[in-house]
Amino acid sequence: MTSEERIKKAIAIATDTRYFEMKQDCLGMAPEVFNKFFEGRKPVVVADENTWKAAGEKVYQAMKAAGLAVEKYVIEKAVFHAEWRYVDMVDSILDGDFSKAREKENDPSYVESDAEKAVRPASDSYLTAVAVGSGVINDLCKLASFHHSQSYLTIPTAASVDGYTSFGASITYQNAKQTFNCPAPVAVLADIDVIAAAPKEMTAAGYADLAAKVPAGAEWMLADVVGTEPIIPDAWHVLQDCLDELLADPEGVASCRPKAIADLFEGLILSGFAMQAARSSRPASCCDHLFSHIMDMTHHTYHGQLQSHGFQVAIGTLTMCAIFDSFLKMDLTRLDVDKCVEAWPSLEQEQNRALALFKDFPAKRLGYESITKKYSDKEGVRRELEAFKKLWPTLKEQLREQVYPFEKMQAFFKVVGAPYDPSMIGITRHQLHDMFPIVQLMRWRYNVLDLAKRGMFYDELVESIFKPGAPWDLTQEQEIK
Ligand SMILES: [Zn+2]
Repeated sequence: MTSEERIKKAIAIATDTRYFEMKQDCLGMAPEVFNKFFEGRKPVVVADENTWKAAGEKVYQAMKAAGLAVEKYVIEKAVFHAEWRYVDMVDSILDGDFSKAREKENDPSYVESDAEKAVRPASDSYLTAVAVGSGVINDLCKLASFHHSQSYLTIPTAASVDGYTSFGASITYQNAKQTFNCPAPVAVLADIDVIAAAPKEMTAAGYADLAAKVPAGAEWMLADVVGTEPIIPDAWHVLQDCLDELLADPEGVASCRPKAIADLFEGLILSGFAMQAARSSRPASCCDHLFSHIMDMTHHTYHGQLQSHGFQVAIGTLTMCAIFDSFLKMDLTRLDVDKCVEAWPSLEQEQNRALALFKDFPAKRLGYESITKKYSDKEGVRRELEAFKKLWPTLKEQLREQVYPFEKMQAFFKVVGAPYDPSMIGITRHQLHDMFPIVQLMRWRYNVLDLAKRGMFYDELVESIFKPGAPWDLTQEQEIK
């Protein structure tokens, strides 16, 4: 299937996005695309100083030349993150109140507004966002546009994340990273020349975010067996059928070849469409992303800097590839189901374990809430384990087809310029090791660690990747420079 055919099919299953164009030198199409979806509305180009130079100014000038009453808001802050303050700022931009927006952007004593009250009454007087930037600007515009009961046009400037077309925005609010439900943009205009000129580490981060769909797909297959989140064929095929092909040229990505960049970007966009079709992030993330969520929630920095989503996800992805390498060496046909059921703890025991584990974590009740949601009783555990036992010979082969061995993924990351050892983002192997119990319990979503707990091979599985000679051999701790 060609890229055009894939995209056409993907748009057909997407629930929010109606238009996706990706080519070289296409910023001049912005007014036409805007008018197609927002005829009669007033656009506002939202960019930061870098993305204004990279594309924002051209988009603004093209819209002006086309006779649109276009406005602009260039964020002055050199460093800003997907935090509520900036959602609040874009809310004011779309209200047309730029001085209030500027105040929110710069006020050192800013206090978060109430998220519940952010939705405005419907009105034709709001400006319509043209988001020119990477993942953060897109997420801010996505949520603020939703607050104004309208959609927006996004013009990505980097192949750095899969969030451009995903349902929902990931924003830090009240100290916790939260996903706010809101629709993806109705239109995406991607200029491959602009995206290929983005800083290389952003592109490498996007590559890792796409690579995460390899182990995430494997974990979705496990949830499918259990039946908690069955595979949704449209959401699966739109991305997984071409994922290997789109990840196949890390050299091309590293040297910014337009075809390789276009493939990578297409993969990230297709991930978003898969999430739209599933109405959840299941097609795009599982444990591979949870390590990153821990780093976000604990405000992990390296050299004083927060690490990009994709760089954090790179380490989660490698870790999960290593886990699957060990998992696939196991023989689940030999599970002693009676013994496992016998030993299975009560819900109350699990809840207490979660409360103790999360006692020093920023979100103290997160584990408790997740385990309450995903707990299976003894009969449920018996059913699950019997299913895995029976399916194992075929399931094992299907999983082997799906996942990449640790070494292959690590070699790809080395070539593309993504981190390939936790020390490269300032995380020790011991710290990574200690994240595992949190990872298992921090989401209600069924993962391979849940299966390992039920089958009584959790310790064996987790320790296998940290033992001498293993990928994250604890005796070979790398120095954090
Ligand atoms: Zn991601």
